[in-house]
Amino acid sequence: MFAPIKGNHLKKRFKKQVVLDDVSITLHEGEIYGLIGPSGSGKTTLVKILLGLEKPDSGSVELLGKKPSLSAFFSLGYMAQSDALYNELSAYQNLDFFASIQGLNRKKRKQRIMEVAKLVDLQNDLRKNVSQFSGGMRRRLSLASALVHEPKLYLLDEPTVGLDPLIRKEIWALFQKLKKEGATIIVTTHVMMDEVVHCDRIGLLNHGKILASGAPDELMEKYHVSALEDIFLIKEEA
Ligand code: ADP
Ligand code: MG
Repeated sequence: MFAPIKGNHLKKRFKKQVVLDDVSITLHEGEIYGLIGPSGSGKTTLVKILLGLEKPDSGSVELLGKKPSLSAFFSLGYMAQSDALYNELSAYQNLDFFASIQGLNRKKRKQRIMEVAKLVDLQNDLRKNVSQFSGGMRRRLSLASALVHEPKLYLLDEPTVGLDPLIRKEIWALFQKLKKEGATIIVTTHVMMDEVVHCDRIGLLNHGKILASGAPDELMEKYHVSALEDIFLIKEEA
């Protein structure tokens, strides 16, 4: 089976701190993979390395079958942890900007902006300046901008952080819909339980190491736990 993303034995330090310690990860086509770990565990660094935005000290990455490149980066849907939005522009103008970079023509842009705004429930806020947006609205607009060119591969860094439960649920329903349409998604989160159920496989990251990976129910069986976060404790004690 084709693996849209493969990371092999990735190591990364910042000064003396080991941030990724021999991480290997394979994303299967058509799955939702949850990269789960507490704040500071190395999620964002790993995602950036997989995208080619950050260089590993050692190890290798295959992104869409090749070494990471700018063209591969532009073909996928990336949502950074910190929202990269233009505050002085309206939500519509932000989406129009990202859609233009992706080379969508005017008519297509308009159509896609309406579609993605609806998907993230911002269709009534498109004319507002982003400076007036709440944190949750900014997150949803960032997500919309990652969707606008209909990518097949998504890397989403904490897309649901700061969203209220109802909207979180809707966003996960959206991920399921994208998956059904053939997309592959890797999503990071530090909020565990209610999000894990939506993932086909998860990887538990702590102190730069993948402690365990697999389907959530398989992991619960393997480690004899009723809650996946207990695996962190088991590994901590080991
Ligand atoms: P997470 O996304 O899981 O919160 P990060 O990958 O952002 O984790 O960070 C992992 C560790 O690496 C943290 O201790 C963080 O402070 C450190 N770190 C991340 N980026 C840098 C950087 N550019 N320079 C120095 N330290 C960094
Ligand atoms: Mg992070």
